[in-house]
Amino acid sequence: MTPMKLAIAALAGTGMALAMTSALVAQEAAAPARPWMDTKLSPEKRADLLLAAMTLDEKIAMLHGPMAMPFGPRFPMPKGAIGSAGFIPGNDRLGIPALQESDASLGVTNPMHVRGEADVSTPLPSGLLLAATFNPGIAFAGGAMLGNEARAKGINVQLAGGANLARDPRNGRNFEYVGEDPLLAGTMAGESVRGIQSAGMVSTVKHFALNDQETLRNTVDSRLSEAAMRESDLLAFQIAIERGKPGSVMCSYNLINGDHGCENDHLLNTVLKRDWGYQGWVMSDWGAVHKLEAATEGLDQQSGEQIDKQVWFGEPLKQAVADGKIPAARVDDMTRRILRSMFTHGLFDQPSPKAEIDFAAHANVALGEAEEGIVLLQNNHGLLPLAATAKRIAVIGGHADAGVPSGSGSSQVTTPYNPIRKGYMPVRSVPFGGEGQMAMWLNTVFHPSSPLAAIRDRATGASVTYDNGAYVETAAESAKAADVAIVFAYQPTSEGGDVPNLALPLGQEALIEAVAAANPHTIVILETGNPVRMPWADKVGAVLSAWYSGARGGEAITHILFGDVNPSGRLPISWPVDESQLPRPKIPGWSEPETNSVKVDYDIEGSDIGYRWFAREKKAPRYWFGYGLSYASFGYSDFVVKGGNTVTATVNVTNSGKVAGKDVVQLYLIDKPGKPARRLLGFQKVDLQPGETRRVTLTADPRLLADFDARAGNWRIDAGSYKVGIGTDANAISLSQAAKLVSRRLKP
Ligand code: BGC
Repeated sequence: MTPMKLAIAALAGTGMALAMTSALVAQEAAAPARPWMDTKLSPEKRADLLLAAMTLDEKIAMLHGPMAMPFGPRFPMPKGAIGSAGFIPGNDRLGIPALQESDASLGVTNPMHVRGEADVSTPLPSGLLLAATFNPGIAFAGGAMLGNEARAKGINVQLAGGANLARDPRNGRNFEYVGEDPLLAGTMAGESVRGIQSAGMVSTVKHFALNDQETLRNTVDSRLSEAAMRESDLLAFQIAIERGKPGSVMCSYNLINGDHGCENDHLLNTVLKRDWGYQGWVMSDWGAVHKLEAATEGLDQQSGEQIDKQVWFGEPLKQAVADGKIPAARVDDMTRRILRSMFTHGLFDQPSPKAEIDFAAHANVALGEAEEGIVLLQNNHGLLPLAATAKRIAVIGGHADAGVPSGSGSSQVTTPYNPIRKGYMPVRSVPFGGEGQMAMWLNTVFHPSSPLAAIRDRATGASVTYDNGAYVETAAESAKAADVAIVFAYQPTSEGGDVPNLALPLGQEALIEAVAAANPHTIVILETGNPVRMPWADKVGAVLSAWYSGARGGEAITHILFGDVNPSGRLPISWPVDESQLPRPKIPGWSEPETNSVKVDYDIEGSDIGYRWFAREKKAPRYWFGYGLSYASFGYSDFVVKGGNTVTATVNVTNSGKVAGKDVVQLYLIDKPGKPARRLLGFQKVDLQPGETRRVTLTADPRLLADFDARAGNWRIDAGSYKVGIGTDANAISLSQAAKLVSRRLKP
């Protein structure tokens, strides 16, 4: 009963009740009935009911929207927007909430501080660090945390779920994505989306598809044959969509086989909507729409419309419907898709309330993730964990006094919560400057979790010095005077540009060499967006890859250095010796003007990305996908494999070390009928006490064993013998066995 009806009941029989009853009748007559608000109905039914009540103008109003920030004198802050990446106005007559859309996968952003500096949020570690956890539960927890913060700020669409595969370890956005393998990337992106949406909001996956380099990102044409595409980049998205059920998919800037991502009939209409049965909506990336026909090519909503040449999905779309050029039924389909996702994910029923955020709890989510995703790459003579005898510790470089670096661009949290101030405090931010459209992005923000402070806190009784690493001579002197030297080296990477090579910039290779020459007990902490070359590796004792480690990165690194946490990260991306080993030693279009276009021939490697490329070409990267050391040691036994429709493998894993630790059991395909093959088929992270054994069963998604038959338009498994093995990385296979599979076809 409504409050008014309750009051009438209480005053029954009085004149007041009569007056109130006639007011109620008048009120109910003015407002249209809203049968779509019946939560017992399915989202489809609710969307249909609402659609039937909408005028063409009202539908079209939902199909385009601006950036949710002031943009030059012509575009003030859109009315009703709370300030974020994007905005689609609501509809008061029908009670349709506005879409308040914020970036991204690594935290709720505050672009240009549009919501003011006081609006802080929790930065998660980079996507590569998340993937390195090989722990889908962590992806879900990070997503749920992010969704919770977003909702508390009034956001109801999170532009998260980056699922592009790392085809090139120089891609400036790999830090937003989840590695080079379709199973791992699809699983982690899907779980993160599922986590975000568990908070009662929509998440995207993005950027669909083959948005695999940033160089000339608006004009680059990714060329790849159908079968290879389905077996690699598209499979990652397919798995992410199946697991995460995102309300929306964001199409990409680049072209794919000649057509832009947001105008790609094949990818959007045939693959996504027909073959995969996707029922959510496709939103454009910001500035990625070039023509009205995108509407018939599969795009449902034009986002960030100020930066396109025209608001195609406004007046031009209306006119095209009037002229019969675009069927009204297509506009209905576009609108229905948006409404359906809004109903499915609770946008009508639980409007985002402004709420208090538990930043301490959220920091712990970021900490737990970082502790599981930092990878121990090298540990000569057991230098780590640090012995209690290390009484003089020299910390050097990487702004370790201030915090841990983050990747730049639209995903960057620039107003991170500061635990000391319990709110906002200016952060150290290193702007690199430069010219061109994207130069403004390139700021390395150091999230306020100082490794130096954390080391000082932990190393009680030791003297800990700090040298900023600007001059190798003073750094070497401080290293010489210490028992152990810890060098922090960072790599700035950013949306909008790639790095030209795998070198550590800013003289840091020379810094590491000089420190290592001064102290044989040198530990290098790599804080990078991508793998980097390590010409100095033989001269240092230990190396940790800490990626971009988020809100509590300094503490996570320290916990691993001191053995409070046993490292359990595994590489989600192969770590090449240098760029000469890559399918394209030079980035196509590198240093060409933004107006140029370039074709990238991804058929060179086809679906053999990363470790599959190295295996096929018989090249050895420095570290293979799946690699990572532990302070414990693990052994495998009793490997049993079953065939039939797919492969099921069971194995015992034992912690034969002296400390508790987590292992990642990895199952790989090694051979398939008639040809060598290499592919991750399954993985599971297990936590084991010393001496403990666990039996793990992994069942392969049959698509990972199949070939995509482009002519038939489906997956084909040939009958025969499939050899699989348990590996500590994609190349170190310790146990293997063959399984017989039956011939079968699987739907695309
Ligand atoms: C990025 C997207 C982002 C959008 C909105 C674009 O430049 O490619 O990932 O969601 O901006 O900020």
